[in-house]
This record gives sequence, C-alpha cells and structure tokens, in this order.
Amino acid sequence: MENFEKLLKDCGFYQFGVVDPMEIKFRDEIRKMCEVNTCRMYGKTWACPPAVGTIPECREKVQKYNSFMVLTGKYELEDSFDFEGMQEGQQKFRVSCRALKEKIQEYMSNYFMLSNEGCDLCKECTYPNAPCRFPKRAMGSLEAYGIFVSELANQAGVKYNNGPNTVTYLGAFVYNKENFEKYFE
Ligand code: SF4
Repeated sequence: MENFEKLLKDCGFYQFGVVDPMEIKFRDEIRKMCEVNTCRMYGKTWACPPAVGTIPECREKVQKYNSFMVLTGKYELEDSFDFEGMQEGQQKFRVSCRALKEKIQEYMSNYFMLSNEGCDLCKECTYPNAPCRFPKRAMGSLEAYGIFVSELANQAGVKYNNGPNTVTYLGAFVYNKENFEKYFE
C-alpha cells in the first residue's frame, strides 16, 4: 500500500478533494470559452477540443468512474502581472500531473487524468494529420470537458484562489474507488 497523500505532496500538488462524478456539471458555455480561443490551443492538439469529444461524450467518459479527485497546484508570482510566472506555474502543474500519472500506472490501468490547458509533450502536435504520438501521456483539461473550475473547487473543498501574488491550477484524477483502495491508503 502506498500513502496517496504523500505521493501527491511528492509530485508537487497543493490540495486535493474528491467529488462524486454524478454531481459535476458539464457545460456547453465553458466549452464555448475554448472556442473563443483565448488560450490559442483550440483545434491545435489531440488534448484540446474538438479532438477530446463533445461535452456529452466527455461527461460519459467521466461518469464511467465513481470518483473524481480534484488536484491543485499553487505557484508564487512576483505580482499580478507576472505572466512568465503564470506560464511557469502552468508548466510545473503539467509536470506534477505527468509524474502522478506515471506513478499511478505502476498500480492501476483503468483511470484517466485531466490537467490544465493544452499539451506540450511534442514540439509540434500531430493533430489533425496523424494519431497522437503519446496517447497514454497526453491529458485533456477540465475546461475542455466543460467543467467550471471554480465551481468544481468549491464542490471538492479546495481553494481556487490562494491569495495575492499566487496562481492556482486545477486538474483531476478519475478512477474507481474499489480499485484505488487496493493499492493506496
Ligand atoms: S502528445 Fe504530442 S501528438 Fe499527442 S496531443 Fe500531445 S503534443 Fe499532440
């Protein structure tokens, strides 16, 4: 048995909380924010919409499992205009998600993870001309699945905002409780 809380700390996560997947709202209006393309990733990778599937398809994928663990990463900024610091935090959060995903793979196969926006595993994504190079490592995002992250944070009892001069990113580990309990405490 491995202590999961310690594993999360070792991977660099700040907080976690578990939500019933049936209580999560999957909203078209959040997906529409992807379509506006503020992050400039819409239609750019296999981990972003529209490649991740429609909102009903995303909901169905999540609701095949009975547990949804919300994970957060908190990163310090020099000030509220520190965009470099925000990008660094974003990158660090992806690294944490990947580290956790690889560790869980040693124990379980039936689960998936969501991270923050986009996928930066390859210099140039193969989308849409060829299949994803690393389908087991690429992760979609909560926003791409139509999930309103501040609402989700409240449901999970974790903080979406950790105070001035910090930025917080959210991801998720989606799994079946029975499976999880075999390997982790
Ligand atoms: S792993 Fe590579 S090919 Fe797959 S979504 Fe990410 S960037 Fe694209």
